[in-house]
Amino acid sequence: MADALLIFKPDAAYRLAARAGIWRWLSTEREWKVESLDWFQPPASLIENHYDFLQGRPFFPWLVDFMTALPVVVGRVTASAESLMQMRWDLGETQIAKSRPGSLREHYGIFGGLNCLHLSDAPETGDAEVKRWSQFVQLDAVKVRLEDESEKPDHTYHLRSLATQVANGIHVDLASQAIGELLAEESELESTELEALRRITLGALS
Ligand code: ADP
Ligand code: MG
Repeated sequence: MADALLIFKPDAAYRLAARAGIWRWLSTEREWKVESLDWFQPPASLIENHYDFLQGRPFFPWLVDFMTALPVVVGRVTASAESLMQMRWDLGETQIAKSRPGSLREHYGIFGGLNCLHLSDAPETGDAEVKRWSQFVQLDAVKVRLEDESEKPDHTYHLRSLATQVANGIHVDLASQAIGELLAEESELESTELEALRRITLGALS
């Protein structure tokens, strides 16, 4: 059995219908086990190390903001190497425009690298990531109970359409405003936290 690190990124941690949908999949524990889950807001230094292979890419400053702007749900999963590959298949490709129809990211991801979930891509990376994150957050107990249903609307496809407009410079102000309103409807966030979710969402579109 291998360890893998799992993160509900802010676009999954706070968009409650998306979070419930992803949890419905994760909690089946088909060929894996969720060993821990907790809320944790990572410091920039941890994210810079976690994603060190992406340093220098144009989206890197956004990626650090995305992953540090709000507390996220972090956990550890155990799975065989084959099951971990199956989980990554269920998750889908990194960029939303390329994610396989029916995959979690195609279903719930909004745009670009706003892709809901981190999951270690192999036993070796899982081992290293779990060791690194364990220095910051305990990964030995399930401390968060996620719901598998939500009364909140799922605006993913509407958000994706508006995000595509913004990314293409079309109706930027109107579409950006509408994105903020839809995120407010999907989440229970208010004021500065809602503004942070809006900022990291719009940040993925430039
Ligand atoms: P994955 O999360 O599928 O394992 P990577 O490890 O390659 O993907 O990248 C880490 C994260 O960085 C991605 O999940 C995504 O949020 C972001 N990212 C990677 N490549 C891009 C890109 N070309 N554009 C925008 N964001 C990206
Ligand atoms: Mg990766």
